[in-house]
Amino acid sequence: MNSADKISAKALVMIVEDEIKLAELLKDYLQQSGYPTLWVGRGDQVIESLRANPVALVLLDLMLPGKDGIDICREIRQFSNVPIIMTTARIEEIDRLIGLELGADDYICKPYSPREVVARVKAVLRRQQSGEIATEQQRLVLDGETYRASLDGVSLNLTRVEFRLLMTLAARPGKVFARDTLMNGLYDDYRVVSDRTVDTHVKNVRQKAAVISGEDLIRSVYGVGYSLEIPG
Ligand code: CA
Repeated sequence: MNSADKISAKALVMIVEDEIKLAELLKDYLQQSGYPTLWVGRGDQVIESLRANPVALVLLDLMLPGKDGIDICREIRQFSNVPIIMTTARIEEIDRLIGLELGADDYICKPYSPREVVARVKAVLRRQQSGEIATEQQRLVLDGETYRASLDGVSLNLTRVEFRLLMTLAARPGKVFARDTLMNGLYDDYRVVSDRTVDTHVKNVRQKAAVISGEDLIRSVYGVGYSLEIPG
């Protein structure tokens, strides 16, 4: 198994794991379930590989040679919202990891059954890909398949880029997203966009939402970015 293994745009799962046997086992189970995989055995090779491949989800081990999972998770979140499932050999580590607010989507404790890992991978991808992100109050509903968004049952008529922006914010209401993070989620290609581009799209989304509810749903945090705030 090497990093040139099966590269595909269809839900490619990156396995970051330094125990080769475990990586092999995960690879077998994931591939049997239809997920192509990409294996990375060193912590300091993750970012480069992630930037070079269309990865749909990262299974990230905590203890790795080169760089640990905590630092890797933080670095990934600076430029990507790719789902991350962290794995650790110590159950007491999980509370600490959650407390660090690394932005991981799920945590699995070792030893795990490969079946459980596959189930979690499916669940996280389903959550992300079905795109049905409804906020707690269900006031805002986003459908990632049709790019339709509605607020209080009224269509928001967003452009594709505006939809993506709102989708990113709605993934974690209340969390402040840096402009850089938002910028990276706007387009499929790697075009360079400026801070102002993000500001412009935010302004448009705000106006469209305000027409419906009269509220300002997006909070600006000076010098940092934006968060979604939906009153109940
Ligand atoms: Ca390890």
